[in-house]
Amino acid sequence: MTTPARNIQLLGSASYRDEAEAMLAAPGDAALVERSVLRSLIMRCPDGCGETLVVNLDPRAGKAWRLYQRGGAVSVYPSVWRDGGCESHFVIWKDRILWCEIFEEGNEEPDYDPAIEPLVLEALPADRFVDPASIALELDLIVWDAGKALRRLVARGEAREGVGAAKGAFQRLSHDV
Ligand SMILES: [Zn+2]
Repeated sequence: MTTPARNIQLLGSASYRDEAEAMLAAPGDAALVERSVLRSLIMRCPDGCGETLVVNLDPRAGKAWRLYQRGGAVSVYPSVWRDGGCESHFVIWKDRILWCEIFEEGNEEPDYDPAIEPLVLEALPADRFVDPASIALELDLIVWDAGKALRRLVARGEAREGVGAAKGAFQRLSHDV
């Protein structure tokens, strides 16, 4: 059994999928397909199965993932999964690959700046639930960072997560009595 990759290695970009795929060697290797706009992220499956994953980044071509390239590191939102084959499911967050369900115990979250937490709290409404993606868009944050900030605010009793249909969405807790 191969050791799963814990990092994504973005090797470059190409105009066509074949050229992008030719750059990939090791599990976790990735390349962008870009023709005037970003089309897709091509990735050698990080679990070591040898398959190639295609993550669509172009909303005109259907359901699209969001790619962030900040501080030289790559993040992708939402998580990436394969419906068939090896069924890999993982999060790409500042070059780290965080596995969902399998290989989880080796997960190590990337550096995170808690200075965003007061901003996230301020952007959070007290009268309704909003999801981390909306907060991230408003504050120009990577969604995974916004999600971590929200979980930490919940742990400190400054926000709460919804239940049922509002699960995964958050609301500011008002402490005025
Ligand atoms: Zn795989």
